Amino acid sequence: MALIVQKYGGTSMGSIDRIKNVAKRVKRWHDNGHQVVVVVSAMSGETNRLIDLARQISNHPDPREYDQMVSTGEQVSISLLAMAIKELGVGARRQVAIKTDGAHNKARIESIDDKNIREQLDAGNVVIVAGFQGIDEYGNATTLGRGGSDTTGVAIAAALGADECQIYTDVDGVYTTDPRVTSKAKKLEKITFEEMLEMASLGSKILQIRSVEFAGKYGVPLRVLSSFDENNDGSFDQDFQDNVGTLITIDEGDNMEQAIISGIAFNRDEAKIVVRGVPDHPGIASAILSPIGRANIEIDMIVQNLSDQGTTDFTFTVNRADLDKTMKVLNDEVKDEIGAKEILGNSEVVKVSLVGVGMRSHAGVASLMFQTLAENNINIQMISTSEIKVSVLIQDQHLEKAVKSLHTAFGLDREDGESKIAGL
Ligand code: ADP
Ligand code: ASP
Ligand code: MG
Repeated sequence: MALIVQKYGGTSMGSIDRIKNVAKRVKRWHDNGHQVVVVVSAMSGETNRLIDLARQISNHPDPREYDQMVSTGEQVSISLLAMAIKELGVGARRQVAIKTDGAHNKARIESIDDKNIREQLDAGNVVIVAGFQGIDEYGNATTLGRGGSDTTGVAIAAALGADECQIYTDVDGVYTTDPRVTSKAKKLEKITFEEMLEMASLGSKILQIRSVEFAGKYGVPLRVLSSFDENNDGSFDQDFQDNVGTLITIDEGDNMEQAIISGIAFNRDEAKIVVRGVPDHPGIASAILSPIGRANIEIDMIVQNLSDQGTTDFTFTVNRADLDKTMKVLNDEVKDEIGAKEILGNSEVVKVSLVGVGMRSHAGVASLMFQTLAENNINIQMISTSEIKVSVLIQDQHLEKAVKSLHTAFGLDREDGESKIAGL
């Protein structure tokens, strides 16, 4: 007997038929003798619909009211699922389990009431928990940020010491890149936590980054798999080593076929800002970035150009949603202060990143990346690197071409045996 946490995303809960399917899968696991905790998202599109309603009232809705309202999407799906499971003759209990801090819209989990969950499991019930949300010490509803149900699932799995946390979604695992961008994307049997963390932080929305952090920190066995695939119906549970979905592993040794690059991530939420004609002397970077930091805006990539006749250009990126706010801070507090010529904002950019632990032991990844982009006439606006990733900022219209050509060049294509990577 195992203790399994299953998380079902929006598409998996997207209609009454899909919810009935989820109930059937949960029942099969339960019938096989396992204890099952189910974490669910709102039905697909519902969270967006609720957020849109709030935005029609205010660009900056009251955070407490906002959380109270957007958390209702999951309240509907937990009750529908509880009804569906009970219809199949299995006991199911909804359980409020997550206590968070009071940081509305991006709350952090503080504790989990595992005692009540265990009692219900021991009584033979399936336990159902609303994803994406918690309550603070005063009983206010809080939410964990978009995609937060993944984190709910992993956190509960960690608190219960579950044998596996299964993230059921609309693709059958983690792919070399978003399969919506190239049909040649290949499913990975395994990926390391470290790589998954990079992929998530660089824009792959398959798992919320905090869920991967949690899983790594608490050693939660984590698997991404499809709720649409009837082969995952609970019959593989006899042997968790089966090649179902993608397992996120700690072990670097048997990293997927020893590929140098394991995946390509991209982020459409970037915006670029250029502060032009700033005097090139000590303190300028701090004079530009400190007021932005004080305004709670996160900066991603940074480049300072070579100085020409004593002045230079300073370029950086922020989340696209923060572009207007950042421009305002720069115009109000920085431009005249440092004597910059002009400040330009551009939201037509995307960041494309190669990720792979194999980069540590292979030179030439960046140069093959730049060569491939050059051959495709794609101009690189900014570059940043770390031990296991290389990122470039390019114009947004080139995203698909960039991902497809890099996917081929680095030997990641599904059918394509030949690639330039052999020469690395
Ligand atoms: P859910 O509603 O189940 O949480 P999400 O939409 O949040 O589902 O995540 C699943 C989606 O993530 C897929 O449909 C796919 O388009 C996207 N995705 C992005 N990068 C990847 C990747 N590397 N592998 C698989 N899917 C990815
Ligand atoms: N429903 C929430 C969202 O759309 C949480 C989730 O699905 O993970 O962001
Ligand atoms: Mg998701």
